[in-house]
Amino acid sequence: VKQSGRSNYQFYTTELDERAELAHMLEVKLRTALRDGGLRLHYQPVVDLKSGKLVGAEALVRMEDKEGAAIGPDKFIPVAEATGLIADLGEWVAAEACRQHDAWLREGLSATIAINVSPLQFKQASFTDKLAGIIAGSGIDPSCLEIEVTESAVMENVTEAIEILQRIKSLGVKVALDDFGTGYSSLSSLSTLPLDKLKVDQSFVRRLERDPASRAVTEAIITLGQRLGLDVHGEGIESESTLRYLAAQGCDQAQGYWFSRPLPPEEFARWVREKGL
Ligand code: C2E
Ligand code: CA
Ligand code: CA
Ligand code: CA
Repeated sequence: VKQSGRSNYQFYTTELDERAELAHMLEVKLRTALRDGGLRLHYQPVVDLKSGKLVGAEALVRMEDKEGAAIGPDKFIPVAEATGLIADLGEWVAAEACRQHDAWLREGLSATIAINVSPLQFKQASFTDKLAGIIAGSGIDPSCLEIEVTESAVMENVTEAIEILQRIKSLGVKVALDDFGTGYSSLSSLSTLPLDKLKVDQSFVRRLERDPASRAVTEAIITLGQRLGLDVHGEGIESESTLRYLAAQGCDQAQGYWFSRPLPPEEFARWVREKGL
């Protein structure tokens, strides 16, 4: 027993060491990227299901290292959160999204831009002030900016979330509840939150065709959103049949690989022109 306990322990520490090393390497890369302009935003189109028109884009952050390889946010956002770098990263994302919105407007491309806000950032008292400063500095029409915050971040402390959301909304910015259906929403709380949109989590959308339970959840979310006067947005749409299904259910907006993967800004603009959207 002692033997195996010891070897398990050794195995465990090695794995921990490796993880710590990886996290440290990512932290160094992230610090460098923040300092030297090594971050990029890619944009994924959001389409209105009734008109078929482009209505917006979700900005998704990417990190490029010196060799030009891209590292995904699923890897470095947790590191940014653990090291406190998330505040700087979040500010950069907001400012860059506003700058891109302005650049596109000048080219005649108008799209609401959604940015993701980490739960940690969302709870920082300074966040709303910083956002207000970025909006004022960029001259963006605040109603063209949307904040995405996850359901779980908001439901953790509803009273606090309402206050924060009210402050954000008072800037004129839109608010979407991201990854909806995976957290533990109290339905009565949901109706008290100042929101504009529910984003149905992709885990349901991607299983729609093979899983009746995912259809049930998706339909319930759409009905709930409609009753609460919120837009409902499906993400993770990978097939035309899923798209048709969501449209038939009354889902308002859609996003997914079926339309396009997240694209660098120039490619996004080209995509919009080529599709005539
Ligand atoms: P999310 O906010 O739920 O973003 C959607 C993710 O799903 C994106 O992954 C997107 O590329 C991917 N996706 C979109 N359509 C499809 C589809 O049809 N099929 C599949 N399989 N995937 C699809 P990405 O870009 O790797 O981002 C992962 C997560 O990282 C995001 O999930 C978000 O939580 C976080 N993230 C991304 N950018 C930022 C940011 O600027 N700030 C913060 N705090 N978090 C971010
Ligand atoms: Ca999102
Ligand atoms: Ca999501
Ligand atoms: Ca609606």
